[in-house]
Amino acid sequence: MKTKKEFAFFVKGLREIRQISPGYMLYYAFAVFFQTIRPYVNLFLSARIINGIIRGESFQRLLTLALITVAANFLIEVIVYAFNHKLSLERDKFVKRYHMRMSMKMTHMSYAALEDPETHRLKQKVRETRNLTGGILDLPGQLQKLIGSLLDIIFSVSMTVTLFFTPGVGSTSFLRLLTSPWFSVIVCGFILFNVFLGMVSKTALTRKTQAVFTDGADFNRVYEYYIGNYLLDYKNGKDIRIYDQESVIQSEYSGLLEQVKKLIGRIYRSQLFLSTITTVTGVVLNFIIYLYIGLKALFGAFAAGNIVQYIGSITRFSSGMAGFAAQLVTLRENTFALQTYFQFMELPEEEKTGSLTEHTDLSKINSIEFENVSFAYPGTSQNVLRSINLKVEGGQKIAIVGANGSGKTTLIKLLCRLYSPAEGTIRINGTDIQAYDTETYSKLLTVTFQDFKLFSFRLGQNIAGETEYDSDKAAKALELVGFDERLAELKDGLETFLNRDFDAQGVELSGGEAQKVALARALYKNTPLVILDEPTSALDPIAEYEIYSRFNQIAQNRTVIFISHRLSSCRFCDKIAVFDNGEILQYGSHQELVKDRDGKYYELWNAQAQYYT
Ligand code: ADP
Repeated sequence: MKTKKEFAFFVKGLREIRQISPGYMLYYAFAVFFQTIRPYVNLFLSARIINGIIRGESFQRLLTLALITVAANFLIEVIVYAFNHKLSLERDKFVKRYHMRMSMKMTHMSYAALEDPETHRLKQKVRETRNLTGGILDLPGQLQKLIGSLLDIIFSVSMTVTLFFTPGVGSTSFLRLLTSPWFSVIVCGFILFNVFLGMVSKTALTRKTQAVFTDGADFNRVYEYYIGNYLLDYKNGKDIRIYDQESVIQSEYSGLLEQVKKLIGRIYRSQLFLSTITTVTGVVLNFIIYLYIGLKALFGAFAAGNIVQYIGSITRFSSGMAGFAAQLVTLRENTFALQTYFQFMELPEEEKTGSLTEHTDLSKINSIEFENVSFAYPGTSQNVLRSINLKVEGGQKIAIVGANGSGKTTLIKLLCRLYSPAEGTIRINGTDIQAYDTETYSKLLTVTFQDFKLFSFRLGQNIAGETEYDSDKAAKALELVGFDERLAELKDGLETFLNRDFDAQGVELSGGEAQKVALARALYKNTPLVILDEPTSALDPIAEYEIYSRFNQIAQNRTVIFISHRLSSCRFCDKIAVFDNGEILQYGSHQELVKDRDGKYYELWNAQAQYYT
């Protein structure tokens, strides 16, 4: 990436941090200032005390200096502690808000983006790059270190400059040489060379470490997915045991672990090599610098106490420069993670829908109409729905049947506005559904998808979709779907937790029981339109029969559209739409359709009937 582009992402990252937690960076700035200044205050004051002792200054003055040193340290310590404490609280808040922001993005992005496999790859990449170089989460810390190093450079330079400009006492030729500008330049050159070596070795090591982590990405992926999540999730326990998945995961993991050990070995070898070089050169160069400082002090250029100040400052200058260079590399490498993060965060949001609001009466459905509706999934060219024309009267019960992949669920997704038709119009009560505003539309319908999800919260909360709920209404809904006996068995009734994620006493529902709860949830919302995708697929034949025999009581005067593979259940419906390959082949009542002996419905009906008769 070009430096300019990298810088743009860095700035964008800082803006994002300000959005997530305003003021967060400010705590970092204060903390780093006081943390960095502390050693210089000590160096400066120690030099004054030593000089005072050498010059034989009064005890009172020395005592005052000592007290100032103690007080300054205490004060800085208190300030640093307070800022660090506040910072750790703020960091906690920041991390939580960051994760919330990612989750909210998943909730608010358009459904097309949500279903797109690219989105999941991108989300995974955000996590991987963040683990690798820190991403948004580590950006404040990285910037803090950069500023810390910069302050180190500024403070140390300002405390070292006098070293080169204070002349010694006397005028021997050696002293003249020692205090000549050229000699100062040479010594500065030595210092800078030493610093340069430190910078090179630190940046090389940072790069190497990052490269090793990049090569180890496979290991992290397997570790995070299988060891960190899969093996820990009790719901996977059955498959893990029966298919001995653990040994497969373990052997895959051990293989990768060996590779990682080799990669880490690479870092250690580089570290050993680089630190040997910098230590040897550092010792030689430090010897020259110390000699220079010592000789100048000997010739009376400054008091011996300043030796402490100069040596301390020069050492910090070296580490400051090395830190600064390494931090620049770290920040630079992190920009890729920032770019990935922004790519994810900028995925298209839910499309803006119309603005017809509450005033539009959607409490009753008069008609639902599909007119010439065609649709292809984004990124694909094949129409999975082709010129669908269908009219449903308010209060009717409609079944949609057809082979897998014939487009039934896609039709429902369009009706729920998860996708928009590529061609044609869907109307409810004569108005294009895209014209209704989101909230008004959400009060119109409930859907139970085949892959419905129940939360590991209380049963009543699951049914109401709210923390506070109407117990009578929830119990009534459960009774309608035949869950009343099971409810009576539950010690805590509607307050029982589903699953055991949050409560050891939680109840594990069977597939059929969960389906009944999902069905009750659809009834609780009491919307004029209920859409059910295979609502009884997990029920035993008796429970299924019970539900359908009470179908009219359950559905009441609502309009119901349901997808089913069991044609026996469609007999309860007013009309049946037979789907095939994205088209409606037949539309009519069971009696009408079963009479057409050449029709698809007759074929499907007979194919299933032989198992039931
Ligand atoms: P049905 O509900 O009748 O089994 P669907 O409506 O789920 O069928 O699917 C119709 C066709 O659309 C199938 O060929 C399926 O593979 C395809 N399809 C479903 N969802 C997606 C998607 N998110 N992206 C691309 N193709 C899809």
